[in-house]
Amino acid sequence: MSVIAANLQAVQQHVARTAQAVGRPINTIQLLAVSKTFSASAVEEAFNAGQRAFGENYVQEALDKIAALAHLRAALQWHMIGPIQSNKTRAIAEQFNWVHSVDRLKIAERLSAQRPQNLPPLQLCLQVNISGEASKSGVAANEVLALAHAIAALPRLQLRGLMAIPEPTATLEQQRQPFRALRLLLEQLNRDGLQLDTLSMGMSADLEAAILEGGTIVRVGSAIFGKRT
Ligand SMILES: *Cc1c(COP(=O)(O)O)cnc(C)c1O
Repeated sequence: MSVIAANLQAVQQHVARTAQAVGRPINTIQLLAVSKTFSASAVEEAFNAGQRAFGENYVQEALDKIAALAHLRAALQWHMIGPIQSNKTRAIAEQFNWVHSVDRLKIAERLSAQRPQNLPPLQLCLQVNISGEASKSGVAANEVLALAHAIAALPRLQLRGLMAIPEPTATLEQQRQPFRALRLLLEQLNRDGLQLDTLSMGMSADLEAAILEGGTIVRVGSAIFGKRT
């Protein structure tokens, strides 16, 4: 078995054990393999080991990989998880299945206008600055409600939920706090009339905390593909 296949299996088992510990069915958690900085052949190796959903941060790098793996396109799900510049929205709208990192109405409006008619709606998450850090991307928690309603009204998009990248902390209990806050925010949106089912939270270092708090997409890079240089 290749290193990537073995790593993938170990991460899948970690996810499954954690889900089982809190009585969550394993099919309520999707593993997103974050392939940024890794080659198309690394993605193909993970594909051959059964992985179908891949996350990318940089648009041009992603487009190169999507083109190199065109023979697998119908079976693959590409997720954009990095910061979005407005001059890149057309490529994203045309090439990706999901976008996790929307934090401004202007970006959502462009994605909506540019999503091709022959494709299914672009699946969207709002990125929330859940730790309240000044420098990080993400909409402030107190602005999520208004932004979510505005985006939910746009055609060619389907608002699915919330995404966050909390600042790193040391203990499981500390890691759980921002994830819990994100879940409570999602529950609040649903009480306010939205129908959201996705919490994109948890990476290699904190996926356990995210699953314990209800995460539905865990975004795992280095634990699958190895250390990034
Ligand atoms: C890089 C990245 C990940 C994966 O991080 P790892 O620590 O390698 O698992 C997840 N989410 C986002 C938004 C990222 O940029």
